[in-house]
Amino acid sequence: MEDNRQKGILTVVSGFSGSGKGTVMKSLISRHEEYWLSVSATTRSPRPGEQDGREYFFIAKEKFEELIESDQLLEYAKYVDNYYGTPLPYVREKLLQGRDVILEIEMQGARQVKERFPEAVLIFITPPSMEELERRLVNRGTESAEVIRGRLLQAAVEARAMEEYDYILVNETGGADDCAERLHGIIQSEHFRSFRNHSVIRAMSKDTMKGEII
Ligand code: 5GP
Repeated sequence: MEDNRQKGILTVVSGFSGSGKGTVMKSLISRHEEYWLSVSATTRSPRPGEQDGREYFFIAKEKFEELIESDQLLEYAKYVDNYYGTPLPYVREKLLQGRDVILEIEMQGARQVKERFPEAVLIFITPPSMEELERRLVNRGTESAEVIRGRLLQAAVEARAMEEYDYILVNETGGADDCAERLHGIIQSEHFRSFRNHSVIRAMSKDTMKGEII
């Protein structure tokens, strides 16, 4: 198990393709600058408009495998024929500085994070229904009917694993800002969990002892 004396909170956000989680994350970051969104490494090619070091670190497969070998990744997964992984050193550094860190990753990675950092908060973002998910994928207009069918089947399988998450956030259509605020509320509340406040508990226990002695 990892050292869990960190001050920042590690949050994992996952969601179906078409859940709108990307928009929710953008809304969160623009409203609350305190969060640090981890930049993953991937072997997939950049899409138009994506920049190396901003959306992802785009690296070759050999380099990715080196990172795995040298234990530089907090977690990684193979997703649609490409590797995706979270570089560990940055995350560790930010957490130790007291920053709340967010990883936007898929389910296999989320499970690995929970194993390594049991105190991490796992949040799943979903549209209100399968019909709504289908509507969003169709409206996006970027995928063929066959790809959309594949995404919906994948979503039906992934839905079973939603129970492994600590929180479920329903992202209503047009409600990304509202969803971002609920996400913010969850992370802020997590700061008050008793297991994250041992120092306060210890300080109070000592004071009580003194009172008894005097
Ligand atoms: P995309 O290729 O559309 O950018 O991402 C595909 C999937 O990979 C998304 O579900 C995204 O959340 C996930 N992903 C992005 N970075 C990471 C990562 O570092 N680790 C894991 N496990 N999944 C990631």
